[in-house]
This record gives sequence, C-alpha cells and structure tokens, in this order.
Amino acid sequence: MQAGIRTVSANQNWDMEVDVLVVGAGGCGLAAAICAHDAGASVAILEKRERAGGNSSLSTGSVPGAGSRFQREAGIEDSPQKMVADLERLAGDSDLPALTRRMAAISAPLCEWLVDTVGARMALITDYCHIGHSVPRLHAPVSRRGQDLVDDLLAAVERRDIPLATSNAVSDLLIDSAGAIAGVAVDVPGVGRSTIGAGAVILACNGFAANRELVARYCGEIAGAEYFGALGSEGEAVMWGEQLGARLGNMQAYQGYAAVAYPHGSLLSWTTIEKGGVLVNAHGERFGNEDLGYSAYAREVLAQQQNVYAIFDDRIKDIASKEEEFAELVNLGGLKSADSIDALARCFDLPAATLARTLDAYNEAAAQRSADPLGRDRFGLAPLSGRLWICRVTPGLFHTQGGLAVDDNARVIRADGSAIAGLFAGGGAAAGISGRAGARGYASGNGLLSAIGLGYLAGLEAARLTTERA
Ligand SMILES: Cc1cc2nc3c(=O)[nH]c(=O)nc-3n(C[C@H](O)[C@H](O)[C@H](O)COP(=O)(O)OP(=O)(O)OC[C@H]3O[C@@H](n4cnc5c(N)ncnc54)[C@H](O)[C@@H]3O)c2cc1C
Repeated sequence: MQAGIRTVSANQNWDMEVDVLVVGAGGCGLAAAICAHDAGASVAILEKRERAGGNSSLSTGSVPGAGSRFQREAGIEDSPQKMVADLERLAGDSDLPALTRRMAAISAPLCEWLVDTVGARMALITDYCHIGHSVPRLHAPVSRRGQDLVDDLLAAVERRDIPLATSNAVSDLLIDSAGAIAGVAVDVPGVGRSTIGAGAVILACNGFAANRELVARYCGEIAGAEYFGALGSEGEAVMWGEQLGARLGNMQAYQGYAAVAYPHGSLLSWTTIEKGGVLVNAHGERFGNEDLGYSAYAREVLAQQQNVYAIFDDRIKDIASKEEEFAELVNLGGLKSADSIDALARCFDLPAATLARTLDAYNEAAAQRSADPLGRDRFGLAPLSGRLWICRVTPGLFHTQGGLAVDDNARVIRADGSAIAGLFAGGGAAAGISGRAGARGYASGNGLLSAIGLGYLAGLEAARLTTERA
C-alpha cells in the first residue's frame, strides 16, 4: 500500500478524465457516486480489492434515521434534536460537534433516499431499541446483512452505467501547483500505473483498522485485538491528509466488538447479553458491567488476557436465533449447552464451583434481591434459568472512527478551517460522530450513517463544484 502526494503540471497527460473520482466502493463510495451522477457529474469509482463492499458488506447494514416517514408510520416520535442528544450523551466530547448535528439532520431524508432512489430493501427495526438510541430509529435490510445494502447500492450504480473498476488501488493523490486536487494515480496489476484527472476526489476508502502501526499510534487501547473487518482499511486517507495539512478528528474513536465467536470468527449476537446473558473469564468470574455495550466492552474482554465465555439461557437463545448469523453459528456447532451449571462448566473446563457462585450472585441481582457488584442494572430476561448455553468469545476491532475533519458538505478541511480544494471524505476516511473517547461513544449505526450520509453530501457538493466549473 502506498499513499503519496505528487504535484502535476497544467499540461499533464491523463489516461482518463472525469468530473468526480471516488476512491473506494463501500457504502460511502457507492452512495457518493450515485448522488454525483444524479446531480449531473461524470463519475468513476476505483476499488483496491477484487470486489466492492468493504466493511459495509460485513456490517448489519443498519442506518439511523431520526424522524423518518417509516418512524411516523410506526407511531414513533423522533427528531434530529433527540438523536443529537442521544449521541452526545453517549459520546461526550467530539472534535467535530457540528458533524454530529449535520448527520442527525440528514439521517431521515437519507434513509428515505436509500429506499426511494436507490431501491434499497430496508425497513425500520421496530422491535428493539439499539445501543445509544432512545427510540427505535435503525433502518436495516430485512436480513440484517450489510451485503444486501451493498448489493442494492451496486445495482443502482450499474443502472446508471457508472464505471467501477476493482483491483485498482489509488496510490497517489495528484495536486496542481496551487495545491488543488487534480486527480489520482492508480496501480493496475499487470498494466502498471495510470493517472486519472478529476475536478473532485472523494475519499471513501474507510479508516485504518487494518494498519497495525496506525492503530497502535491512535487507538492504543485496542491495539492487541484482532481486526475483524475488510482488509482494504489501511489508512491511506489519514496518510494523504497528513501530507496535505488536513485536520484530523476523533482519532482515538473505534468500534470494537466484545464477543466474536471463537474459533468460528462470526459475531455472537450481543442480543444474547442484552437480553440477560453474561460474560465470564476462565476462572468462571464476571469481570465488568456488560451494560457498557458490545463496543466499549471489547476493551474489558481484551484486558482479561485469558479465555472468555458468554453464557445465556434457552429463552435468550431462541430470541437471538431470529438473527441469521446467530442461527448459522448455532447450526455450525458454535455453541454448547447443558442442563446444569456443572455440566456447562465441563464444556470448557471451567471451575464449576466458582461459576455457580458467579451465576447465583448475578441471578440474585437480576431478581432485584441485591445490587449487582459490577454495577449492571439492565438484566433483560434474567435471572437465567433452565437450559444454559455457552460460547467462547474473543474481542475484535471492527473499524476506526476517526479521520479527516470535514465541513457540512464533506469537504476536507485544514486546521484553520479552510477547505482543501477538490477533496472530499466520508465514512471511515472522515472524522466520525462517536466522540473522541475510545469505543464508548459508538452508537449503533454511527459507522454507516457517516459513510452513506457523508457520501451523499460529498457526491452532491462535488457534482455542484465540478459541473458549475465546466
Ligand atoms: C463486522 C462489522 C459490523 C459492523 N456493523 C455495523 C452496523 O451495523 N452499523 C454501522 O453503522 N456500522 C457497522 N460497522 C462499521 C461500518 O461497516 C463502517 O463504518 C462502514 O461500512 C464504513 O463504510 P466506508 O464506505 O467508509 O468503508 P468500506 O465499506 O470499508 O469501503 C471502503 C472501500 O475502500 C476500498 N479502498 C481502501 N483503500 C483504497 C485505495 N487506496 N484505493 C481504492 N480503494 C480503496 C476498500 O477496499 C473498501 O472496499 C461494522 C463493521 C464491521 C467490520
């Protein structure tokens, strides 16, 4: 992976020219390309990997929309103000508070645009309030698979004949003598390097979670966790931004996941914990307050430096089984079950007496007969009863949230607030809306909202800029 900046002359010979060049074909890049095209610009998308989708494909495809018509139809009262309050309560300070307000403001029209213009097969999730949301506001594919959302975006790109070249890694940003973006250089396997001239470049190449050095530099607390996202997130946007004097924002923020099923590598649905399950270590002891949520709790799991297990009961397993990925994990034999705590402990050679004491104390707290020693106060269906299920889990890093600071139209800005002419960023490439503090600020859907939301805004503004200029 290379991420250089080169200055080109006014009479540069381009291999191809477009109004808007999009770097990366995940949620952000595909949305940006559709918007820029619909606003009248010529567009092309370059994707480093052999297939489009990136982390967006791996996600659950959930996008928050505060005040959408789908919420109104379901009788749910919501507003951007309510969403900003929710996000700020969870995330605390942000390097870019205006971005949080901007994303909340466009979230509802964005979900409607996805359904009406893109043709995304999405629906409001009404049965469940996700982490960080005071009302149900996530709109997601019925399957809860990001791949479906990506497929719908790709179909919309295809219908518009927007060129999308995979296995085309952008290696350099090319600037003119005044420092404005003029195009990109691309590495094409077997062909060599080519250059594409563009009036605007949209960085939709995600964050730096696959780049160990950048993760250690900016998100040290999770540096020991395995990365479970797509391999393309190698941090080029940050590296280009640093060279161009761009401001970086919220660099410590990341999304973790406390319960990746081991050794299967699929997610153990956090529903299992929210509905009353617990996590215990190899000594059979709980070690923290699971109410922290799947992202913030990843750090606590990592800190154990030993095997960790999720435990829940049959009723909870039945609820989680409605989610495809969980059902698949069950079918693959990723969970074990037993009728007694002794037998459950034997599944993984855990100390049975300690495990029994741990579960008794937890059940007492869940039954409101004592306070939970670890401070948990949401117990779902617990006390746990009947048949118990157990799954070994490891902590994972899903994506980084910090990146290039952008203005209200997704233009990349410098420390003094001035925009770098012709450069846009969205999604993981841009500073996120989860605050600046580790994983605690991540509310469900924050990643895709800033991907698709900033992609949408970048596409519109880049098209306006380049078509007006023409
Ligand atoms: C397992 C998992 C579950 C998640 N669940 C959710 C969820 O439910 N809701 C949510 O909001 N977020 C979720 N996230 C986070 C979410 O997926 C990301 O925040 C979001 O997809 C980022 O979108 P993006 O378009 O910025 O990046 P991506 O979708 O990763 O797309 C970036 C693309 O750019 C390409 N690229 C990189 N560098 C270059 C280059 N130099 N040249 C050309 N192409 C390049 C990459 O290969 C990639 O295809 C999850 C993440 C993971 C890993």
